[in-house]
This record gives sequence, C-alpha cells and structure tokens, in this order.
Amino acid sequence: MITAAEHLDRILAHVPVLDVESIPLVEARDRFLAGPVTAAVPVPPWTNSAMDGYAVRFDDLAGADEDSPVVLRVVGDLPAGSGDDPAIGSGEAVRIMTGAPVPSEADTVIPLELTDRGTESVQIYDALDRGRHIRRAGEDRTEGGLVCPAGLELTPESLAGIASAGVGEVIASRRPRVAVISTGDELVTAGQALARGQIPDSNGLLISMLAGETGAETEVDHAGDGPGELAAALDRHREVDVLIMTGGVSVGAFDPVKALFEGGDSVRFDRVAMQPGKPQAFGQMGDNGPLVFGLPGNPVSAWVSFQMFVRPALRKMQGAARVVPEPVPARAAEDWTTPEGRMQVIPVRIADGSVRRVLPAAAGGSGSHLAASLATADGYALVDPETEMVRAGDMVPTVRLRDPEQFNHPPRREP
Ligand code: AMP
Ligand code: MG
Repeated sequence: MITAAEHLDRILAHVPVLDVESIPLVEARDRFLAGPVTAAVPVPPWTNSAMDGYAVRFDDLAGADEDSPVVLRVVGDLPAGSGDDPAIGSGEAVRIMTGAPVPSEADTVIPLELTDRGTESVQIYDALDRGRHIRRAGEDRTEGGLVCPAGLELTPESLAGIASAGVGEVIASRRPRVAVISTGDELVTAGQALARGQIPDSNGLLISMLAGETGAETEVDHAGDGPGELAAALDRHREVDVLIMTGGVSVGAFDPVKALFEGGDSVRFDRVAMQPGKPQAFGQMGDNGPLVFGLPGNPVSAWVSFQMFVRPALRKMQGAARVVPEPVPARAAEDWTTPEGRMQVIPVRIADGSVRRVLPAAAGGSGSHLAASLATADGYALVDPETEMVRAGDMVPTVRLRDPEQFNHPPRREP
C-alpha cells in the first residue's frame, strides 16, 4: 500500500503543463493565467472627475458659502469621453461630468448640488477642500503595476480588473481534453427501467462534469466488460489529453481496465491507503499519449478519487498556482467510524457558523456505494489513518466544494 500523498506525488511528477495561447477576455473565464498580468495603462487612466459638477481653481473659492456664494464664469463643458483640456483662468470654471478628465489648470471639483447649476456663470455655495472629488490617474494601479499573478484562475472579477488595466487578451493554457469512460455490463442510462442486476450509470455524468468544472472539454463514453470492448472505446478517444475510466480496476474476475493494462508498462496499479478509493490505476499511453486514470467504480470512490488525484492533475496541466485545496478545520457534529491504517475521505455536510461544523453526508456512514447521499455533500473531510473513530466535538480538516478560498487565490491582503 502507498499513501494518498505518495500516489498524488507520482501523478503530479508525470503531469505536463499544456501549451499556452493568447485568448480574448470574453473566452478566458475559468482559465489559469500563464504569466502575471501588469497594467498596460494606469488605473484610472486619467485624472478625472468623481462627480457631475464644476472643475475650478480652489484659490478662487475663498469664503464661498450659502450667504455669499462665489461667482465664476463658465468657459467650457466636459462630458465623459471628452479629450479636451480647456484653459481655466482665475475666476473661471468648466462644467464637467463624472469620468471626464479634469482640466490641467483645475484642482478641485464642486458637485452640481453645491451650485446654482448655471451655464454662463455659476454660483458656488461651498469651497470644500483643495483636491476634492478628483480621482487621480494611477490611484488603483500605476502603469506596469501587478494586476493578477501567474497561475490565478480567471473569474469575472479578475477579468474585469484586467480589462480596466487596458489589457484585452491573456495568455493561458489551452483547455485539457478529457474522455470519461464508464466500464461495466450492469450500467444503463439514468432514468431507464432496470432489469435485474442493472444500475444507472452515474459516474459518467459525475466525473465528466467535475472535469468540465476544472476547465476541461469533455467526452463521455461507456464500455462493457467483455473482451475488446474497452479497447474499442479507447480507440474512439485517441486525441485526448486525459483518459479517465471508472470501474474495473479491482480484482474482480471481469475487471476490464485491469485486464487491458495489467502487465504492460504504461499503467501502474496501486493500492492506496485511503477509504474509499483503495484500488487506483495511473499511467500514460506511450511517451506523448494521454494520461490514464483508472478510478474505482463505486460512485463515492470515483468522486473521492477525482477530488484527491484527478483535479490536482487537471489544475497542474493548466498552470494553476495551487493544485491541492487547503483544508479548513471543522467540528464534528456527530460520531462516525473510520478505518484503521487508511486515511478516510468522507463526503460531509458542512455548516458554517463561527466554527465550521461537519457531519457525514450519508446517515449510514462512509459506504462507498451510498451514491444518492453524494447529492447532499457540501465537501469532504480528511481523517488521518491513526484515527479509529471521530467523536462529536473533534476537529477534522474539511474541504468545502466550489469554495474559491479552497485554493487560496493570491494575492490577498488581510481583511
Ligand atoms: P467495479 O469497480 O467495476 O468493481 O465497480 C464497483 C461498484 O461500482 C459496482 O457495484 C458497480 O456496479 C458500481 N459502478 C461501477 N461503475 C459505475 C457507474 N459508472 N455508475 C454507477 N455505479 C457504478
Ligand atoms: Mg465493474
């Protein structure tokens, strides 16, 4: 038996980083930046007005208030988008709209609300302070300043930040192509009536959607357990970067993944000290062929195997800064049993309060066949091999699904 960490290390040592390409921002959602993005222009690009109002010289406004307004001559109009830089002499003002560049000779903007809104001349009722309502060029980022670090997963927020810094394309790895092949004579499409012995195929959906969520383009297929069926299915997906098979990796009499690959030098079969998910296969077809994952068939085992091994590999391929999630301690809300000598990875329900609380997603505990209970999982708990029993009140490390914090996006400032 090897540990889950050893198995993951072997996998990651094998995983190449895919070629990168330049892509427009609208197509870059969920991709990972191949290099840092720096500001092509200052943000904001121009020193501009924060209000609709009048651009003025502060020295002209001494003593302005409701009872004795200062009167200025209005010498121009600056709508947003105007490139003009009108001269402003002493005693003059320019009407300016939010976002328009502030004339070089003005140092303050007085909002419309503090004036009589005049168009020939304007009465100013309050001088405010020098520099008020002016947004300085480069206040958020100077030209060349870092906007996003390499390896960041691109979100609507990070892409908007990049756009605002004058950058229209990013360099990111192409998406991995992934084929998911469910194996098993007993599998039928979900929703079909079941003859005795048949079960719905849930892994094809599960694993391909998880891969899609991790940035891959996916193809889904099925192979029966009969001789030649898996080889024929693999032939239909030669061009992919990653092949993921579920089922058939164990010691059953008709396990097709084992039958096809065992004894060859391309795929290695291991027993991993993890529950569920003990039988694991990993390798590569040829020197440049697809990476091959053989995951155990029980749906919870396949799910755990994806979280522990496949997701990190798909993230590494795409140049992610962080490939393994950061567990957060949670307080167990009830007792559950764990296997001795193997790390337990158990689907859990998570409640976030001042302390995260956690309990098994399946009332029946940790059975890897409890496929329907996966529907209620918010995450998984990682219980170390030495623990024989988790007691209510114990702290256990947990990973919440789809929590952007799980991969600790850099950069962050302390709140
Ligand atoms: P195997 O790893 O092929 O021995 O399968 C282990 C268990 O998982 C068996 O009970 C299978 O019926 C079940 N199983 C295998 N593949 C799937 C699948 N794609 N969807 C749902 N259950 C599956
Ligand atoms: Mg099978």
